[in-house]
Amino acid sequence: MADGRVIGVDLGGTKILAGVLDPDGRLDVVIERPTPSYSQDELLDALVETVMELRTPDVVAAGFGVPARVDTRTGFALGAVNTPIHEVPLGDVLGSRLGLPVGVINDGSAAALAEFVHGAGRGTRDLVLLTLGTGVGGGVIFDGQLYRGWSEFGHMVIVEDGEPCQGICTGRGHVESYCSGNAADRLARRLLGPAASAHDLVARRHPALAEIGHHLGAAVGSLVNMFDPDVVVIGGGFGVAAGELLLGPIRERVLREALAPGGERVQLAVAELGSRAGLIGAGRIAFEALG
Ligand SMILES: [Zn+2]
Repeated sequence: MADGRVIGVDLGGTKILAGVLDPDGRLDVVIERPTPSYSQDELLDALVETVMELRTPDVVAAGFGVPARVDTRTGFALGAVNTPIHEVPLGDVLGSRLGLPVGVINDGSAAALAEFVHGAGRGTRDLVLLTLGTGVGGGVIFDGQLYRGWSEFGHMVIVEDGEPCQGICTGRGHVESYCSGNAADRLARRLLGPAASAHDLVARRHPALAEIGHHLGAAVGSLVNMFDPDVVVIGGGFGVAAGELLLGPIRERVLREALAPGGERVQLAVAELGSRAGLIGAGRIAFEALG
């Protein structure tokens, strides 16, 4: 791999997390700032400023994991559900403003890549990851290679004509409607009062988390039937916090929905890299951008 270090940036629905990585994936200096939610211009400015804040003379490229539908070859972002990104050549715009080689990838794919190389998927060939944050993202490693399509697993239908989805998504009954951190916030407010959040459900080990796990299990069961992965990793801010409390209910539902022996064989794991998976994966994409 190239000499020098890169900056990996994970754009989330509520925060931007960024850090400097060396070619071995070692992380140095991590910063966090809120995600501007008003306009795309503001969002682009924040991404550029974040990189400039971290940039040192040995930084040779930057990688961005974005919660959007991305054409990975061109860096063009079609649109996003929970952040103001719409039809923008993100790779070109960020590359010219920074004067650096830039790689752009879906944030769930970035996290999947990081967990495959450095985290819960080490030593496997096939991995599926779901990130539960503001929304629900996903990523797939298939036969040792990162799948670089949309990977919008959060928008799989798990309940026909179910609850409305979030952000600008017009769908109903999507995974994101039931299993995102925002969905868990809504559930907490309904059960515990207007000031409650997903954090309270986790702190109390609330039985309602099993409901979220069962919904997630429907999605995981379908993904097992499609990809027969060695491991399914649950990541993202809410996913990591709720962690083990979700895995039992997920397993129960997967045993019903997945074709045998997939439901028993698949390993279920919480993301080992925690909330840093996305930025570490984005850093790997930055090294790829060096060609
Ligand atoms: Zn949706």
